Amino acid sequence: MTDNPFLAPSALPYQLPPFAEIRDEHYRPALDQGMAAQLAEIGRITGNPEPAGFENTVVALERSGALLTRVLVVFDNQSSAHTNDAVQELDAEYRPKLAAHDDAIHLDQALFARIDEVHRNRAELGLDAESLRLLERLHQRFVRAGARLSGAEQRRLRELNAELASASATFQQQLHAANAAGALLVTDAEQLAGLSEGEIEAAAAGARERGEEGYALTLMNFTNQPLLAKLADRGLRRRLLDSALARGLSTNGPLAARMAALRAERAALLGYPSHAAYTVADQTAGTVEAVSELLAKLVAPSVANAERELARLAQAAEADGVTDFGAHDVAYYAERVRRTEYEVDTAELRPYYELERVLRDGVFHAAQLAYGLAFTERLDLAGYHPDTRVFEVFEEDGTPLGLFLADFFARPSKRGGAWMDELVSQSGLLDRRAVVFNNLNITKPAPGRPALLSLDEVRTLFHEFGHALHGLLSDVRYPSLAGTRVPRDFVEFPSQVNEMWSTWPEVQARYARHYQTGEPLPTELLDRLEEAENFGQGLRMVEVLAATLLDWAWHTRSADQETVQDVEEFEARVLKEAGLALPAMPPRYRTGYFAHLFVGGYGAGYYSYLWSEVLDADTVEWFQGNGRPVRESGESFRRDLLSRGDSVSAMDAFRAVLGRDPQVGPLLARRGLAQD
Ligand SMILES: [Zn+2]
Repeated sequence: MTDNPFLAPSALPYQLPPFAEIRDEHYRPALDQGMAAQLAEIGRITGNPEPAGFENTVVALERSGALLTRVLVVFDNQSSAHTNDAVQELDAEYRPKLAAHDDAIHLDQALFARIDEVHRNRAELGLDAESLRLLERLHQRFVRAGARLSGAEQRRLRELNAELASASATFQQQLHAANAAGALLVTDAEQLAGLSEGEIEAAAAGARERGEEGYALTLMNFTNQPLLAKLADRGLRRRLLDSALARGLSTNGPLAARMAALRAERAALLGYPSHAAYTVADQTAGTVEAVSELLAKLVAPSVANAERELARLAQAAEADGVTDFGAHDVAYYAERVRRTEYEVDTAELRPYYELERVLRDGVFHAAQLAYGLAFTERLDLAGYHPDTRVFEVFEEDGTPLGLFLADFFARPSKRGGAWMDELVSQSGLLDRRAVVFNNLNITKPAPGRPALLSLDEVRTLFHEFGHALHGLLSDVRYPSLAGTRVPRDFVEFPSQVNEMWSTWPEVQARYARHYQTGEPLPTELLDRLEEAENFGQGLRMVEVLAATLLDWAWHTRSADQETVQDVEEFEARVLKEAGLALPAMPPRYRTGYFAHLFVGGYGAGYYSYLWSEVLDADTVEWFQGNGRPVRESGESFRRDLLSRGDSVSAMDAFRAVLGRDPQVGPLLARRGLAQD
């Protein structure tokens, strides 16, 4: 195939992949050739008769794999954001092949011998700080991947990696199927009482897409479905929540148990007591104990808070004659309490959150205030789907910075959730600027109607854009240290900080305006909203903590423990032992659909959200209280932290901005957990 667009670097601005030319049949040959080309490049490194040096080994490795990277970023994105049967099959076939390819590099004795030699000589090489950092990280990566194991141990490691990779692809496929099968079909429109006209239209469109009559209530990939806050029909609420909770249990439950056992065995092989211990050794948290300690600190006050809130909800439900208040009633009565006690109807907010306005006058405007950035839509550049938009990003002085792709709407070919990733990572060495994208799952409005967002969706937009900025503002030499390639328990920190702008008065006043009248969101509504927000903190915290503890329980298991047989019983026991068994507030994710852990690389890493929030809450207080102009604070946050990627240690970057270590106080205060 001579016309395969992956085979040469893209000629488009910023090396944006030439999506208009890419077809499914290009992936296989490009993946095969990409892996072969990289192995040949590595053969040239190890076959070099010159002694191992930084340039001919470490930098040469940094430059290797260009073709594979070009195809993988596009392929991975398509398999998440716009998949089809052919892509799913290819994904299942290539995950184990790619894992084996990774092993072929990391377990290459000759290659490691050279890296090890450069590493031993590092003090005499006259390396600058970033080069030294690259060498340290690379060496560590090889050791953690098993480079020092014996031949027999490495063989077993390769088997484990291959099985885990294919199990992960299976988990993804089974989840896709379970989500589709879990959608509720409603034939009688009366059952949808409580939903807005737009939501009913969306449900009707959902049914049509599935070739059915009536209305389809599709499942979002987390436990508490947004529609639970609105559906007046208790029976339907119960069915919707049950369907959400049960999905994937019978198929993905046993698979997850198997994956946890394989990960424990792999950790033991590499010298760690558990997968969690192996994982955090490389993170800012450092030890299992440090994470467990933070979680333990949060459980009791969160549960006490949640129980107080649940009691109020049950009371509100009693007024409706509900005597058996349950999990399927929580969101509905939380909404009722918000409406009656705080006089906040969250549906009332939507007209003030029109997507285009939130994007340009909110998200982009905040990036201008803090970092001086400007954005221009490039209608001449194609994305990977008609709904994908391309924006060019400029510095204050007009210097081009990179591209930002935005793909906001849900569709059946897209997985659930919201995420950021890169198509091109910034690198001084390779003379590249960043091309990044955000994916969300906002319900697409009917043609001609505006997309009116929920408050959650507004926050998600700011959050994901925080990741995008981390990629765009990267200013490093080596691609493997660029942008978001920081420890996983640090990567959520810049994105969580960016959520701050959604309520920054100057920004909010600009973007939160009625889509028809242009009226700003009334201040008194905002005040009531803030109060209402404080109510529900306990419940939200318990929901996330429970999911975090499930992750922690799966991955702190040791290799000599037996594989979990009964996943439901395991989940229940874990939550009970942690003091977190609240039947009315199930975990944000149960094992069967916890894709973070079993597809997305967050195994033993879900705690990262809470860990990062400690840093985030502290930093938000710094932004608000340091007395400096926003642009100045933004510049220092950008220079010392966002632009550094992994070229400095995460905690050093944090200290460079705030001038001290992080403190947990601001998080406890924000979550209403401060003890007096
Ligand atoms: Zn995030």
